[in-house]
Amino acid sequence: MKLRIAIQKQGRLADGSTALLKRCGIGFSNGLGKLRPEAEDFPLEIFFLRDDDIPDYVADGVADIGIVGENVLAEQPKNVEVVERLGFGRCRLSIAVPKGDEYSTLASLSGKRIATSYPNILTKYFAANSVEANIHEISGSVEIAPSIGLADAVSDLVSSGSTLFSNGLREVETVLESQAALIRRPELSAEVEAILDQVLFRIRSVRAASQNKYILLNAPTDKADAIAKLLPGIKSPTMMPLAEEGWVSIHSVIKQNDFWEVVDRLKQAGAEGILVLSIDQMIG
Ligand code: ATP
Ligand code: MG
Repeated sequence: MKLRIAIQKQGRLADGSTALLKRCGIGFSNGLGKLRPEAEDFPLEIFFLRDDDIPDYVADGVADIGIVGENVLAEQPKNVEVVERLGFGRCRLSIAVPKGDEYSTLASLSGKRIATSYPNILTKYFAANSVEANIHEISGSVEIAPSIGLADAVSDLVSSGSTLFSNGLREVETVLESQAALIRRPELSAEVEAILDQVLFRIRSVRAASQNKYILLNAPTDKADAIAKLLPGIKSPTMMPLAEEGWVSIHSVIKQNDFWEVVDRLKQAGAEGILVLSIDQMIG
């Protein structure tokens, strides 16, 4: 019995998805354009698909789990459950108007034509804000719609915003924030469920590792307690005496997000020789 996972073949989620599996120790070769490789050392079969098809395949039982953008799920809800958000493929669905156009609130778009590939999300968003607009569905190249007279505004996925900018558009609203998510079919056999638990355990270890750093530093013994208090580690930090009299070495784990702030405070408190290392796996 194998767990079958559907991931994007080519596109913005493809590299993140294969990299995540590889970091989980699940190796496979997709050389020669193989669309259905089997993992070498884990009971997993991989299907490479178009991203829009993934929720359907998981809901229909062709695959057991999949990796897809939350935006795709919001547009076309399917009978799948989100098991874990994966932290890559971050983007937002935004509304943008031509640079020179006036815009104050969403009501500025009342009666206007909005081009988008996300008509369901947009329709709900406008309804929730009691604004009536004309949602015009197009499947791609949304950002050129205003300049060819097809729409007054657009709603499209953005990460840096540079595509909008280079097409003479200005971002004015965020409709939805999105990232890649692991989805599953609600019904799985006990055997497949057990393999999924193993995959999840590995994914969570990898994710925790990438959100944390391992920090080592030297502190004068008389300042060690004050310095240790600045380290909100998993448990209290490890402290070891150094060969040099009057100094200790302190080890701990800190959150990536707190990192720069903590380092500044450690230096002010008298820490020296601060080393920060990335963590490969973090087993809770
Ligand atoms: P496919 O050929 O598989 O249908 P696609 O062209 O529909 O691919 P991509 O452009 O590869 O899709 O985007 C896949 C997903 O990547 C999006 O659904 C979204 O979740 C995410 N994403 C992240 N950043 C962006 C961005 N700047 N623009 C578009 N999608 C983004
Ligand atoms: Mg697609």
